[in-house]
Amino acid sequence: RLEIRNIRRFFDGRAVVDDVSLQIRAGQVTCLLGPSGCGKSTTLRMIAGVEMQDEGEIYVDGKLICDTVYRVPPERREIGLMFQDFALFPHLSVADNVAFGLKGPREEKRARVEELLRKVSLDRYIDEYPHQLSGGEQQRVALARALAPRPRIMLMDEPFSGLDNRLRDGIRDETLSLLKEEDTAVLLVTHEPEEAMRMADEVALMRGGKIVQQGAPYNVYTRPVDKAAVAFFSDVN
Ligand code: ATP
Ligand code: MG
Repeated sequence: RLEIRNIRRFFDGRAVVDDVSLQIRAGQVTCLLGPSGCGKSTTLRMIAGVEMQDEGEIYVDGKLICDTVYRVPPERREIGLMFQDFALFPHLSVADNVAFGLKGPREEKRARVEELLRKVSLDRYIDEYPHQLSGGEQQRVALARALAPRPRIMLMDEPFSGLDNRLRDGIRDETLSLLKEEDTAVLLVTHEPEEAMRMADEVALMRGGKIVQQGAPYNVYTRPVDKAAVAFFSDVN
């Protein structure tokens, strides 16, 4: 379980993330939804530990991983990352890409790699290289790689935006079922209401660095908190 309490981040004296609090449970997908520039990626980077908050605390399973004094380094946070431009390593095979973050005996690593590639239906490509795969297939390998070390938390920043519409729905569904199977707590960033409605158990609507509304997707969508939220939902992105 991931818990963020009252985090703030200032750039040039402006709060781009302004008193954000969130809780995400294992096996649940929370969507951070909002227009461009509202502070979504900055929030994710602070949770990942690649950017430091100016105020607030972050907890994983009740344990403090970061406040303004104490910080667990990013590689020890047991957090998986998947970003749109988070490319595969071109010089490594599919198997080696998925095994990249894994430690332990060779056979164990291989078994985990095979398990995940089976789950994303790409086991036949295990010894191929990224350039031999389509964009959608590469994305599924990236998902397998992110999940391989069994992160308790997965942070995803617009992970499907590079894919064409036809592919996207299938990969969204596949990603979702795999994340549920692994019981991962997921924070998914998107600026597309449709994606949030499709994938989220909980939606946090963000604007100007603040969470302005939070709840079940249906409720957020059918009962927008204000005119700006109505406009955001009716906007064709
Ligand atoms: P998008 O949907 O376009 O990705 P976002 O919600 O992810 O937008 P952020 O990338 O979090 O937005 O940026 C929020 C605001 O913070 C923006 O106004 C941005 O210009 C500003 N910002 C982000 N990083 C920095 C930085 N390193 N220095 C100065 N300003 C920054
Ligand atoms: Mg962003």
